[in-house]
Amino acid sequence: MLIVMKQDATPDEIAGVVTTIAAMGYEARPMPGRQRTTVGLVGNDGRVDASTIEGMAGVAEIIHVSKPYKQVSREWKPEPTRVPLPDGTFVGGSEVVVMAGPCSVESAEQILAAARAVKHAGATVLRAGAFKPRSSPYSFQGLGRYGLELLAMARQETGLLIVTEAMDVEGLELVAETADIVQIGARSMQNYPLLKECGRLRKPILLKRGLAATVTELLLSAEYILAEGNPNVILCERGIRSFDTTTRNLFDVAAIAVVHGLSHLPIMADPSHGTGRREMVTAMARAAVAAGADGLLVEVHPNPERAMSDGAQSLYPDQFEKLMREAGAIAEVIGRSLATAGSVV
Ligand code: PEP
Ligand code: MN
Repeated sequence: MLIVMKQDATPDEIAGVVTTIAAMGYEARPMPGRQRTTVGLVGNDGRVDASTIEGMAGVAEIIHVSKPYKQVSREWKPEPTRVPLPDGTFVGGSEVVVMAGPCSVESAEQILAAARAVKHAGATVLRAGAFKPRSSPYSFQGLGRYGLELLAMARQETGLLIVTEAMDVEGLELVAETADIVQIGARSMQNYPLLKECGRLRKPILLKRGLAATVTELLLSAEYILAEGNPNVILCERGIRSFDTTTRNLFDVAAIAVVHGLSHLPIMADPSHGTGRREMVTAMARAAVAAGADGLLVEVHPNPERAMSDGAQSLYPDQFEKLMREAGAIAEVIGRSLATAGSVV
């Protein structure tokens, strides 16, 4: 439930509403806005009897949030959330932020070559996993802590920001020491203890859609993070399991528009995992930008045939340059542009 205060409501009247909500056994979240303050009521699992609050001084209107998720909904916050990144850019503004790099960190040479290539093409964030959730226990599991050190080195040299995955509660703090954005992978989308810990972090979280998760489940997972106090969540469509095995996953472009309708949170697209095949990645990146994606997550490898994970869907650097040119052109058509480091829009 949302309590919208009158424009001229006094601090005392707002405090009165907060105290009343607390006395009802719920938590009150005052949210000062440009025009007026709204007070969110959280902690309820159903409709709350609003009669006491309705008549209080300074209260303009009560809005019952109809969705199972609350704080991530458009009803709760109509204006889009812009997630700030340390280089001064935002995910969720008019810019489209491109995060690119190999699936995994493999060596110093590999990550530096990848970082230089994606920077040269115009990406502002380097992606690569140090802790890898692999379907097979016999597949490369990532370099772990050493991988994080290599990512820090790549940032030092190129100035790119780093997005990398945390797989469990135990490893989250370590990953967050290096990451500018902490990635929660598809396989972890419903790891609720991990989501709660992400809610206590002060870093942006990139939350990927689960392998067979509905949009509602994705938004409920984001709600776990916001409910713990971290508003900086970036969603990511990365394809879902389907009956058709032509592509690795079914890349759900419509989910981008659906999420923008239901939520104020930004949503990016990962056409690499979405298709699983490099020859389709650029077309789906263009489609995602056209659909309104707030960013792209793209796998690029200096030598894809030698990649230790996801080589078949990793772009060659020159293919990525073409993707950037084309995604940039599409962005312009809809009044956006690709983010450039340090630019603030
Ligand atoms: C990845 O980004 O490399 C990854 C493991 O993605 P997902 O969690 O979407 O499978
Ligand atoms: Mn991958």
